[in-house]
Order: sequence, then C-alpha cells, then structure tokens
Amino acid sequence: MDVKGVVLWESKFKESSRLLRVFTDKLGKITVLAQGALRKNAKHLSLTQPFTLNHYELIRGKSFYYIKDGEVLISYYDLSRKYEKILYGNFVLELLDRTAPEEEPVPGILELLNRSLEGILNSDEELYALFFGFGLLERTGFGSEIRGCIRCGNRKIKELYFDPEEGGILCENCNRPGSLPISKEDYKALYFLKHKPERLKEENIDRSSREILWKISSLECRLRLDIRHLNSMDMINKIQREKKRI
Ligand SMILES: [Zn+2]
Repeated sequence: MDVKGVVLWESKFKESSRLLRVFTDKLGKITVLAQGALRKNAKHLSLTQPFTLNHYELIRGKSFYYIKDGEVLISYYDLSRKYEKILYGNFVLELLDRTAPEEEPVPGILELLNRSLEGILNSDEELYALFFGFGLLERTGFGSEIRGCIRCGNRKIKELYFDPEEGGILCENCNRPGSLPISKEDYKALYFLKHKPERLKEENIDRSSREILWKISSLECRLRLDIRHLNSMDMINKIQREKKRI
C-alpha cells in the first residue's frame, strides 16, 4: 500500500527497531513498526523521523504496518535547529496524535499539517502552531463562527466577545458571563489565522493578541476535542513565562 505521511510520535522498540505513529493521507493515523531502523546503516532511518513528509510503501501485519520501502518527499527537519521551532512543531504533532482517530482518514489534515510545518520552519513558528490548532478544529467540524454575532447576526460589532461555549463571536448586546472580551486587533489576528493565513506574514500580531489566541485555542480544544493537557504546551508556557521575565 502506497501512502504519504508524517511521523507524529516515535519510540524505541526492542533492540534495534522503532515504533511509530504516522499520520497518512489514505489511512489516517496508523502504527508502524520500523524493523531494524536503529541498526548501523539502516535503510529506513530517515523515514522514522518527525518533521518530514514521506512516501511509504507499507505492508499490513497483524498488529502493525511495516515499511517495505519509501522516500523522504519534503523535509522540515531543519526546524530542529531552533529550540522554539521544535516546541511549536511538537505541539502540532502532539495535538494531531491525541485527536486523530486510528485508521480513519480525515480529508485535508495532511495538507494542513504540511502547511503548518512549512510555516513553523520558514516563518513565525508560534502563529503557524496556532494556525494548525484552528485549522484542525475547522476540518473536524468544530470551527467557530466569527464573521458576525452568532446570536443576532450583527456584523457591525462595536465591542467584540468570543464565546467558547457557543463557538463564535458575540456582540455588545448578546455577550454573556463567560464570554471573553477581545479587541479589534485580537479579532483581526483570529480572522487571518482562520480565513487568510497568507496575510500572517505581513501582519504584526502583538504579544497580548497572541495570548488571547492561545486562550481561545486551548478553550476550544478542551470543549470540542476534549484536550485538557498537552506536554508540549507545558514547555511552550514555560518559555513564554521566561520571555516575559526578561
Ligand atoms: Zn449579537
């Protein structure tokens, strides 16, 4: 079976093998055993690393898939040269690993993953991690509605609120306890992330908007995807706290 995929997680397995979870276009998330991947001169080592888009020729076994052959198609591995890029890259992989169902293809996700990893490597890593989070919600049917007030349809909102429970924007007349006041700048950043990511490069999104975006993203991931905790997020919070202190 021929698939394209990205390694989400890997672990040493027995003496010289690696166990992988790979997100693929045709099979969704699968478990792959790369036999002998850690042996000297192993043929398939590069296919077992995260941050690359690979082509795999797989054989289906009883418990795992096995790699018959394959090649690296696009490598984003250079992002591992910068600590912060690794953290945001890990966030993307962990979030997908935790939410993707086993052996169930999800259309559009591999493209989203590629675009996000490319952005993390070549552009603002934090924004492209957020871009992945919002894109994942969108493509799994949980995207929030931000083009107008979700209660009254008002599109000329003076005071904006984001309501995670209702999944969208509320206006000054409809806001309720629990909805999050957001500035015009925050809204603009959220809009670009969700609908016009190509604009992210030119926009200057400041720290306070980024913090609101993380807040919205983590509330939505908790409510819609049941994600309460990610190890990668702990690391991200830690460096963000350290940065603040400087
Ligand atoms: Zn309203």
